Amino acid sequence: MGRIIAIANQKGGVGKTTTAINLSSCLAETGKKVLAIDLDPQGNMTSGLGVDKSELENTVYELMLDECSIKESMTETVMENLELIPSNVNLAGAEIELLGINEKEYILKNAVDYIRDDYDYIIIDCPPSLNMLTINAMTTADSILVPIQCEYYALEGLSQLIHTIDLVQERLNPDLSIDGVVFTMYDARTNLSVQVVDNVKNNLQTTIYNTIIPRNIRLAEAPSHGLPINLYDSKSAGTESYRMLAKEVMERKED
Ligand code: ATP
Ligand code: MG
Repeated sequence: MGRIIAIANQKGGVGKTTTAINLSSCLAETGKKVLAIDLDPQGNMTSGLGVDKSELENTVYELMLDECSIKESMTETVMENLELIPSNVNLAGAEIELLGINEKEYILKNAVDYIRDDYDYIIIDCPPSLNMLTINAMTTADSILVPIQCEYYALEGLSQLIHTIDLVQERLNPDLSIDGVVFTMYDARTNLSVQVVDNVKNNLQTTIYNTIIPRNIRLAEAPSHGLPINLYDSKSAGTESYRMLAKEVMERKED
């Protein structure tokens, strides 16, 4: 059965999309069948995987409003073994349009249930807020992976995120767990990065991935070429780190 991981943190710019794109593509590279779902109206995962946001007939928005089937919402990406349910700015209106709908917390889950067995991994990129879209990701997912940027305010908002995950688990998705946190944009030259990692390790009662994603310029460049890091620069430190994360994620399954 496919494993569904949502990449979530309501804090903006912490590396959610970078992690969602490159974890997906590094899993796909090993021969796993992967579906990426872009649940952010910014559509950064969509463009980062080489799909033109403006040319889309169907997106996750049409899927959630029941205007297309899940198969119709999918598109190929630049990466073999990696399909995408794309997103664009239309999704920004979904929150309000979903208001009157029954079981609106489960719209994505009900759609994904049809196809989850066709994939080894389904990776969902969440928007930077704890809104109905993120709740839909949390009811669909088996686990949440939380990227944490190595900066001074890293822990800000984290207790709120964990509280939300607990609530969803209690009321909407008893099978949901926290997969773990992943440190991103780590800079070994700064004391701050080192301190943040130590501080989180000492204060957070949750699993922490051994893989730490370094700050790497190639990771920041790759999306503007519409390529995941392993296609953009397969020898970069960014590629190496996301390959290690993919390996760790695959090993977790056997736990
Ligand atoms: P948002 O909350 O807006 O969705 P996000 O959490 O998805 O943001 P990203 O878009 O992945 O964060 O990253 C924010 C910015 O930092 C981007 O410009 C991205 O290219 C850059 N970035 C992310 N990770 C790294 C890294 N390891 N090294 C260098 N730059 C990075
Ligand atoms: Mg993002």
